[in-house]
Parts: sequence; structure tokens; C-alpha cells
Amino acid sequence: MTLTLFDTHAHLNSDQFVGKVDQAVANAKDAGVIGIAVIGVDLATSRRACDLANEYSGYLHAVVGIQPNSAGEAAETDFDEIESLLKRPGVCGIGETGLDCYWDDTPIEVQQDYFDRHLELCRQTKLPMVIHMRESCDLIIEQLRNQPSVPSGIMHSFTGDRDQVQACLDLGLMISFAGMVTFKKSDDLRSVAAMVPEDRILVETDSPYLSPEPLRGRRPNEPARVEHTLRCLADVRGVSAEHLAEVTTENAKRLFGL
Ligand SMILES: [Zn+2]
Repeated sequence: MTLTLFDTHAHLNSDQFVGKVDQAVANAKDAGVIGIAVIGVDLATSRRACDLANEYSGYLHAVVGIQPNSAGEAAETDFDEIESLLKRPGVCGIGETGLDCYWDDTPIEVQQDYFDRHLELCRQTKLPMVIHMRESCDLIIEQLRNQPSVPSGIMHSFTGDRDQVQACLDLGLMISFAGMVTFKKSDDLRSVAAMVPEDRILVETDSPYLSPEPLRGRRPNEPARVEHTLRCLADVRGVSAEHLAEVTTENAKRLFGL
């Protein structure tokens, strides 16, 4: 039986998918994927996300923003341009934003400044945010706690521990899992995934990165493969794949206002 799935995080706007989006969309539809959020990491990829949302209207949805690792090389005017993209049809969220302590492309103060700006934009527009974390979960939680209010949003490709997931849930966030949760050594992450309430869990591929098991290492990852992550999550949560697919798809539609 085909599942009903929603991939909440894919970079079909990246160079690796140039000329291949048609095929990736066809494969996703065959795999039961009913919608995909295409995520910007800088001004150029955010524009491309909007173009794709226009071209594949109602199937691809755009999330626009400047990723923390791109913030260091963004031009002064780029954030204003991102703001003006919010008027384009098919834009359903703001990001990816957040903090990254793994790469050192952008000084942390600059990342924090951009994160604050994205948060403010979410409060103004009521659009949800997509948060990128890499070795930065505690700093993200701290910055969110210092906000006047925390917009709705997603901790994408979540890799934190039990305390961190609880803190994110307490802040009202949704938790999205990518292929990492399927890897053999990810027992801790799987037990974290089992803790997330049913109305807060999402799935994603983070294509073209990190293919899930059993396709690990086969690149590029693509939205059709979100099914493997979903099945792994259903397994650790002790529910049927059909049920979890339905639930996560409803969660995605509700969050993005689709
Ligand atoms: Zn991403």
C-alpha cells in the first residue's frame, strides 16, 4: 500500500537537481509524497525555491531565508530581498535559519543576528520558521527563550538528546527527522524520536544529503526516499507506517498552512 507522505525539507533548488527536478517530482509522486517544502539557504536558492513553487504549483512549496553558514557571505541587501520574496505565491515558511557550530563559515554573532532577524520576520508575517541545528541545539534553545515570543516552526533534521527535544517541545516547536535516524548507530536518536508527541513529529529527506538506510551513501538523496525514514520512525514508535504517514502529513499541512 502506498503511503501518504510530505517531505518537509528538500533542496530541489540546489545545483545537484538542475535538469532533474521533473524526475525527482515524478519519483516522489510514485512513492506517495503529496507535497515537498523546498528550502532556501541564500538569496539565489530562495529565489529558485519560489520559481519551483510557481512551476510545480500546489506540489512544491517554498521556504525562503539565509542559512547560518551562508549568512557570512550575504550582501547587505539580501535580507531585504528575502523579505520581498514573501509576497511570491507558494511561499509557506521562512528559513532555513538557526545556528551552526560545526562549520566556521560565519562568526556566531553574525549567525545570531540573522537568526533574530528571521524570527522577527516570522512574528510579523505569522509564517513558520525552519531551524537548522548542528552542534548548536543549546544555543538555539537559549536564543529562542530570549525572544518576546517564539513563532511556530520546525527543528529540522533533529539530532539532539532527550533534554533538548523536551526543551524544543516546551517552546512549541515541531521536530523533524531525516535519514540520520535510520543509521545503525543512531539508537539514542531513535529513542528521542519515540518521545515526540504525535501532533509534533515530521519527516524530511534533506535531499540531496544523507540518504536513509538502506540507501545510505547512494547520492543524491531525493524526496521519494522519505518513505524509509517514515518506516523507521513508525517502527520505533510501535505504530503502523500508514498511520504515521497520515499523521506527519497532516502536521506538515497544518504547520505550513496548506
Ligand atoms: Zn537544509
